[in-house]
Amino acid sequence: MAGSDLIPTPPAELRERLAGTRGLLIDLDGVLMLRGEAIPGAVDAMDRLEQSRLPYRILTNTSLVSRRTLSLQAAILGFRIEPDHIVSALSATAAHTRRAFAGRPIYVLAAPDARREFAGQWLVSHAEADSPGMAVDAVVVGDSPEELTYANVNRAFRFIRDGAAFIAVHRNPWWSTVGGPTIDAGLFVVGLEYSSGTIATVLGKPSSGIFAEAASQVAAGLPAADAAAGSPAAGVAAGPAAGSPASDPTAGLVMVGDDLVMDVAGGIAAGLRTVLVLTGRSSPEDVARAARGEPPASGAPIVPIAIAPSIAGVVDALAG
Ligand SMILES: [Mg+2]
Repeated sequence: MAGSDLIPTPPAELRERLAGTRGLLIDLDGVLMLRGEAIPGAVDAMDRLEQSRLPYRILTNTSLVSRRTLSLQAAILGFRIEPDHIVSALSATAAHTRRAFAGRPIYVLAAPDARREFAGQWLVSHAEADSPGMAVDAVVVGDSPEELTYANVNRAFRFIRDGAAFIAVHRNPWWSTVGGPTIDAGLFVVGLEYSSGTIATVLGKPSSGIFAEAASQVAAGLPAADAAAGSPAAGVAAGPAAGSPASDPTAGLVMVGDDLVMDVAGGIAAGLRTVLVLTGRSSPEDVARAARGEPPASGAPIVPIAIAPSIAGVVDALAG
């Protein structure tokens, strides 16, 4: 870490390091909620962030359900987060298949509610998948426990073997539920990679696809003066100024997450500044180890610009 190695970063230093922030990308699990409950101070912090008018998107690998349902679930905990302020691994994947496979058949393993994100796309049913000669252009592995059955995973395997593109919403190994540590879709993604000999294209964190989708949405909402900087109408013949949102959607954006690999390493690779919060997966010991390149890092050091006790600390530093 630059400067002090104190964990968490002292408030005054946190404020300094966050100077110039133009928008936030905020992880959901471990930052706003954990095991079905709101993290203390998070509801109030999000209300204050909304009042501050700093643009933000919730950026989450949580993909069991659609963004609309995520928004409703968050509302039960007291959060007021509009569905269009959420970018999930699922919605980023659906945006990708909408662009890449328009009008083409795809086989999606996701629960009915999650499949809403693919509205307007040609989704092949399990029964259709079994009809002779059926082929699809892509297979999407989501994270629905009900859909990841032996029969469905085998259908996916056969399509991939026959040449379908292999797309995974994410490859999380496990997550925390009320019942304890719980296997996640990564188990099935890695198994399908092994059996099919094909490596999946992953849209969720830590892949850059989801960060790019969220960053471009936030940049699009920044004040007109910034957006116009690169437009021909503004008469800027030389193009956008370096570091402006028009030239680089990640300029001035900060990713706030609880996972050193998914949020911090993933965010850095996508060109973002990152802040780690200590309300989820990562302990101060993990932070120290990752800074030395030790697990959870895998060789290369992982170093966020700052470490905050919680999302409330981040919002205090920005809006306080
Ligand atoms: Mg998280």
